[in-house]
Amino acid sequence: MSHLDGNVLAGAAADLFAFDATAASGRCAACADVATLAQAMVYGGTMGFVVRCRNCDAVLVVIVERPGRTYLDMRGLTWMQVAGPAARPAG
Ligand SMILES: [Zn+2]
Repeated sequence: MSHLDGNVLAGAAADLFAFDATAASGRCAACADVATLAQAMVYGGTMGFVVRCRNCDAVLVVIVERPGRTYLDMRGLTWMQVAGPAARPAG
């Protein structure tokens, strides 16, 4: 089976990472609770944020901000849903 390289993800990635975080929803990998990120419990500091599940307190997302770089760990989410374009042309 043939494959494409990662450059093909540019459009989808731009849509995904330019979303309204307050409207995005996700599923907790620990307890399966589905909620918007706006409903999560967020702990912040000078280096970034820890986002915890409103239901079970598991860590959903960690964002670490360093000069010139941002690290994103989303392993606490089974999936995340964001609003995107209505349709993307095939091909
Ligand atoms: Zn949970």
